[in-house]
Amino acid sequence: MVEKLQTRCVIVGGGPAGMMAGYLLARAGVSVAVLEKHADFNRDFRGDTIHPSTLELMNELGLLDEFLKQPHQEVRELRAVVNGQVVPVADFTKLPTRCKFIAFMPQWDFLNFLSSHAKKFPSFQLHMETEVFDLLIEDKCVIGVRGKTPRGELDVHADLVIGADGRHSIVQSRAGFQRREFGVPIDVLWMRISKEQGDPEQSFGFFQHGKLLVLLDRGDYWQCGFVIPKGGFDEIKARGLPDFQNEIVSFAGFLRDRVTELDDWSKIKLLTVQINRLRDWCRDGLLCIGDSAHAMSPAGGVGINLAIQDAVAAANLLADKLRTGPASVDDLRKVQARREWPTRLIQGLQVFIHHRVVTGRPSARGSSLPFVLRLLKWFPILRQLPARFIGLGPRPEHFRSPSSI
Ligand SMILES: Cc1cc2nc3c(=O)[nH]c(=O)nc-3n(C[C@H](O)[C@H](O)[C@H](O)COP(=O)(O)OP(=O)(O)OC[C@H]3O[C@@H](n4cnc5c(N)ncnc54)[C@H](O)[C@@H]3O)c2cc1C
Repeated sequence: MVEKLQTRCVIVGGGPAGMMAGYLLARAGVSVAVLEKHADFNRDFRGDTIHPSTLELMNELGLLDEFLKQPHQEVRELRAVVNGQVVPVADFTKLPTRCKFIAFMPQWDFLNFLSSHAKKFPSFQLHMETEVFDLLIEDKCVIGVRGKTPRGELDVHADLVIGADGRHSIVQSRAGFQRREFGVPIDVLWMRISKEQGDPEQSFGFFQHGKLLVLLDRGDYWQCGFVIPKGGFDEIKARGLPDFQNEIVSFAGFLRDRVTELDDWSKIKLLTVQINRLRDWCRDGLLCIGDSAHAMSPAGGVGINLAIQDAVAAANLLADKLRTGPASVDDLRKVQARREWPTRLIQGLQVFIHHRVVTGRPSARGSSLPFVLRLLKWFPILRQLPARFIGLGPRPEHFRSPSSI
């Protein structure tokens, strides 16, 4: 027996893109079901950055004060330590937003917050432990999805399917969309090391002769990202844990007394980094947004923000139509048209950062600072540019979708 469900819009994936799109469409009175394959939002390594533009959206929704009561850290300035020299690279304090900081909040708290508010709308449904494995297609038009749940199979029929199922999207592959891959020369090792009194207060990126260690302040521990050449993890393992621990300490000496917490390779997760983009984000009855339309690298920590901006644009452009009937493929193309150039711009910069900054050759002058970083060090006003790009991104979205409440 296949269980059946009918809704106006079904969203595959309860990540930042899917939950925000679900929240906004339900708020506009559109009947919407979000299908998430996991039983909860407790997954690691998803990135924890809530940017000033997303905080501004929370403010516009009237949710900001409650949102900021969730445990989080506020970062007003990003600093890099390049060959031992500290360089402030982005100053968020002058942004034209209510929150002039990046909030570091575990993604599961962010998603739980959004879903708890979405559930207040009668037209919202969230189905956890529901993994979509196929599209339902009739006369070349996507009319729904088929998923499996602990109770058996579920068919959800809808006027619109939104694929928000991330970088390994089943929706985009079943839809037969063409994807352009941009070579990425790096992977990331992701691990935790405890934080102690006397540690630096800020989140940091330590660059050293073409290598990079990122430390994100998560209150009582550091979330550490160590950038390695793509496919290089086996070689690192072959050299042994003590060698790896020493390498971490060579970047951040204050971790010397704790680095042995990494006493088993199971505590070090390999994250494969991808950058790609669909040629078409939509077809009749189907739209992809977020990483499903364009997988993002962690460089700049902007993927979550971009996924949320896609969701806002989709709700702005489609909510009115979906309240009364289906959206045409031309309506769906408007979402791609609006979000594609910001995506291209950011991905272009991520490719540049991978090739020139992260895996670039060590400077000919050994420990000297690259010219751009020297400019940032000498002229504080210039730090507002990276802050705008990271904190707001190109073409920040604002709510225009109607509210039914
Ligand atoms: C190592 C690493 C670190 C990163 N760090 C940051 C960072 O600090 N800041 C930042 O902004 N970005 C970061 N990113 C990028 C960021 O994680 C993504 O750009 C962002 O999560 C995209 O959001 P999304 O909602 O589109 O997809 P996702 O966050 O991937 O969410 C997709 C959701 O769909 C669900 N799903 C998948 N398949 C199915 C299915 N078949 N059926 C039902 N549900 C399904 C998944 O369980 C998931 O909940 C990082 C990326 C990597 C690889």
